[in-house]
Amino acid sequence: MSVQVVSAAAAAKVPEVELKDLSPAEAEPQLGLSTAAVSAMAPAAGGGDPEAPAPAAERPPAPGPGSGPAAALSPAAGKVPQASAMKRSDPHHQHQRHRDGGEALVSPDGTVTEAPRTVKKQIQFADQKQEFNKRPTKIGRRSLSRSISQSSTDSYSSAASYTDSSDDETSPRDKQQKNSKGNSDFCVKNIKQAEFGRREIEIAEQEMPALMALRKRAQGEKPLAGAKIVGCTHITAQTAVLMETLGALGAQCRWAACNIYSTLNEVAAALAENGFPVFAWKGESEDDFWWCIDRCVNVEGWQPNMILDDGGDLTHWIYKKYPNMFKKIKGIVEESVTGVHRLYQLSKAGKLCVPAMNVNDSVTKQKFDNLYCCRESILDGLKRTTDMMFGGKQVVVCGYGEVGKGCCAALKAMGSIVYVTEIDPICALQACMDGFRLVKLNEVIRQVDIVITCTGNKNVVTREHLDRMKNSCIVCNMGHSNTEIDVASLRTPELTWERVRSQVDHVIWPDGKRIVLLAEGRLLNLSCSTVPTFVLSITATTQALALIELYNAPEGRYKQDVYLLPKKMDEYVASLHLPTFDAHLTELTDEQAKYLGLNKNGPFKPNYYRY
Ligand code: NAD
Repeated sequence: MSVQVVSAAAAAKVPEVELKDLSPAEAEPQLGLSTAAVSAMAPAAGGGDPEAPAPAAERPPAPGPGSGPAAALSPAAGKVPQASAMKRSDPHHQHQRHRDGGEALVSPDGTVTEAPRTVKKQIQFADQKQEFNKRPTKIGRRSLSRSISQSSTDSYSSAASYTDSSDDETSPRDKQQKNSKGNSDFCVKNIKQAEFGRREIEIAEQEMPALMALRKRAQGEKPLAGAKIVGCTHITAQTAVLMETLGALGAQCRWAACNIYSTLNEVAAALAENGFPVFAWKGESEDDFWWCIDRCVNVEGWQPNMILDDGGDLTHWIYKKYPNMFKKIKGIVEESVTGVHRLYQLSKAGKLCVPAMNVNDSVTKQKFDNLYCCRESILDGLKRTTDMMFGGKQVVVCGYGEVGKGCCAALKAMGSIVYVTEIDPICALQACMDGFRLVKLNEVIRQVDIVITCTGNKNVVTREHLDRMKNSCIVCNMGHSNTEIDVASLRTPELTWERVRSQVDHVIWPDGKRIVLLAEGRLLNLSCSTVPTFVLSITATTQALALIELYNAPEGRYKQDVYLLPKKMDEYVASLHLPTFDAHLTELTDEQAKYLGLNKNGPFKPNYYRY
């Protein structure tokens, strides 16, 4: 069974999906740009990044899909964008990968930057340190939690949980629970919260039109029939909509959380009540974290044939503990920068034994999640923590990438006076032309009311800057890690810390000056607000299509390498979300399509197009 994208224009008009064949072989791009052509251009554009995996064209043992037998059968299959080649052509991606790779913390001392063979020395798997059943106390669980990978602790968490996991001290692992059908193949905080969780899922469904459309169309067709998906993502209402959609498409799923804090207990309960083997709760210990993953994978009579991962921990667990499983696994779909980085390392080391889809770098993820998610949630995070008014306030935003652009746009729209700092002249010029004053942080640090970092860099705001800020200045970070503001430098005896609200600290200088530090320099929006479901819908749809594509791809279309989702699918994901806006997409005429050298059904842009 395969799936087909109907014309993007048609899909925009008719929100229903034709689940016929969405394979890249159907894409037939008439752009005259093969993967090889893109690869050939890449080194010139990307420069000689010694860390970047070689493009497929340079690696005879693992030729890109354009050179295999599938390509001979299916000319367009040769045009599947190969992520390793694409990455090389995009300096932004190199930067991201380098930067986020440095944050791929798994071991207690905090670094995993190598492929599994090397990681072996660094990852401390739970069973190497302690038996699963020797569980730590609650305090112990909290302290252990800091040693989980950065991806496991610093990414999405929703502030919308209605349940306080601290109410009940009993570990879910010590509870005997059954759902209303007598099924006990799950481990959640409290199955009795299922009804509450169901309401959360139903609310999320309203903002996830593409998944609902896929589900509706799947009534007749089951493109994931026979798929056994093991997943490790944040367990939120949005993930639940994805999982239930995968179920509707025919897949069997088993799921664990990729983050020890982000599970919504009531949502996990609702999924378990609906028959999904879910092993997750808010506030897992590190030991619990790996135990849950193991319970998803190590099951009698069930073996996964697809992986959906966010951060790479599940993938590494299988590599480490059950490498034979890869004989049956058809592919890995990975969402996060960190996980993708690990896959590239595996690929580079020749250790990647199945095809992998890099969802993180899909246009529909990067250009929407980073930009629009932050544009919407920066104000929410600031408002919830400080109740501030934005109009007329002076704000400096450090970094004018996707996240910075989103923050600046939101604050400008609220009437704030926005300054930008940048190191890259291109982004700096964009900031200028968007109407922002480009400054050095030192030039405005005494006068601004808010400082926001979103560079992905470290020590952007130093103690010297903090010393010079005016009284009541708000300081926060929207970048991935808590390295951007030198928070450690504030932990000195002469400064007093006052916790005034959850996630809000006043740091007080001897002369009485105080600054307002939010979320201790961690991601503001993910720590202090919710993120918009609609944006997550776009990412979740991309994940679903990547799973369908890898699961249904004929032998040979994808080799043991990392791929970007075919452009046509990116376009398809976008088109599925257009009806929400009652948007009317223009269709190319035959004459126009010929003139531009495009197929009327897409793809409409070459792979190197930047949007
Ligand atoms: P990006 O690479 O597009 O932008 C970062 C910008 O910061 C670049 O233009 C870079 O030139 C600039 N920069 C680097 N060092 C600087 C410095 N010292 N001073 C000023 N500018 C500097 O990346 P992005 O997509 O905007 O993501 C930025 C960070 O936000 C990353 O850490 C990313 O993981 C994270 N992120 C957060 C969210 C969220 O919801 N909060 C969402 C997506 C990404």
